[in-house]
Amino acid sequence: MDFPYRLTGGNNLKVHLAIQQERFLGASANVLAMVQGWRRPAEVIVIGCHHDAWGYGAADPCAGTICLLEAANCVAQLTKQGIWPERSIVFAAWGAEEFGIIGSTEWVEGHDAEMGEKIVSYVNLDMAAMGPNLSFALTPELTQVAKDCAAMTPAAGDPSVSALSVMLNNNKSDTLFGTLGGGSDHVGFVCRLVVPAISISAGGSQGTSYHSNYDTTAWYRATVGENYEPALMVTRATLSFMALMSNQKWTPYQYGEIGRLGLKALDGLTQFAKTDKEKSALEILRPMLITLQTQGELVDAGILKDQPQNPHAEQRLITGMRRFTKAFKDDAGLPDRPWYRNLWVATDPSNSYSASVFPMIQEALQANDPQRLEVAIERTADAIQRASAAAELMLQGLRPSTSPGQ
Ligand SMILES: [Zn+2]
Repeated sequence: MDFPYRLTGGNNLKVHLAIQQERFLGASANVLAMVQGWRRPAEVIVIGCHHDAWGYGAADPCAGTICLLEAANCVAQLTKQGIWPERSIVFAAWGAEEFGIIGSTEWVEGHDAEMGEKIVSYVNLDMAAMGPNLSFALTPELTQVAKDCAAMTPAAGDPSVSALSVMLNNNKSDTLFGTLGGGSDHVGFVCRLVVPAISISAGGSQGTSYHSNYDTTAWYRATVGENYEPALMVTRATLSFMALMSNQKWTPYQYGEIGRLGLKALDGLTQFAKTDKEKSALEILRPMLITLQTQGELVDAGILKDQPQNPHAEQRLITGMRRFTKAFKDDAGLPDRPWYRNLWVATDPSNSYSASVFPMIQEALQANDPQRLEVAIERTADAIQRASAAAELMLQGLRPSTSPGQ
């Protein structure tokens, strides 16, 4: 807390501290509900927030759980009126998050074979409504749809402006959105299943109370506000994202962004590298990422104006889309952490809330191990080339000349 602590008693003061903490094995549960999509039921959007807590708090987890429940309630109301989403939607209240992201991790591991290929995106809502400023952390494919979603969402407390315009006004960096790191239930989806994911949240209130007994409704109402406008905004943003993601023929991914962000991450790694040899080894990735960005941007532009001309071309587009989102999935995993299969991003081992882009390379540089760096660059290059090949397949699908014989 933000006030001075004073300890009197002089140099000879002895303090006896007793901590009583019970260790036991207890049960927790994931609570899931599914709305079956009417047109593409096998493609699934998962929206989740944990329901457990250190001390059941107004901020953590309630400020996310209320948005999850209200979003589910809205969809339920729509289905009663006969309005169903085109893709399936799973609402998930995860158990045992605070004890090591256990509930969602178990679900991800248990449904890997069944759901790994079906999930088109995961939305995380942990402690989501904590102030008036909407913000997203995401994987690069979701950049454009996140902007569209923020543009559709009225700002908290001021419906005359969009949450996007508030976001743009407040933004001081060259990137609008954060990178998904660790510390919540998206980890299994991003790092294990390698699916596009977004964390939707709103912040900007002063102070925090989470993981403490001060996390009460009185604290929330005094600090975040009496009117729950941030929760309304986050719920609307979640529903807008869900609508954009579920009801368009092509999942609204953006393909050019990963190349652009990859080049930015490469600059960061080059600065981090200590020797010229390391720096020049990294340079092999630059032309690959430039090509990937160009191809991705061509796909982004092509999808807006062209349609596949025949079922064969359409199949190429669909296969390319699926392969693109899985391009950085490497089943061998990271060398010290084989559970982590995403070579694009992983939680930072030194600060599990942060993200590390091109984690295998970053960890090899940190280890000062030339051989390990060589392997890391090679496997990351393979992933970039898988993404490039997938983008090329999509471009073939969009080209008017693609015929069944090609
Ligand atoms: Zn939490």
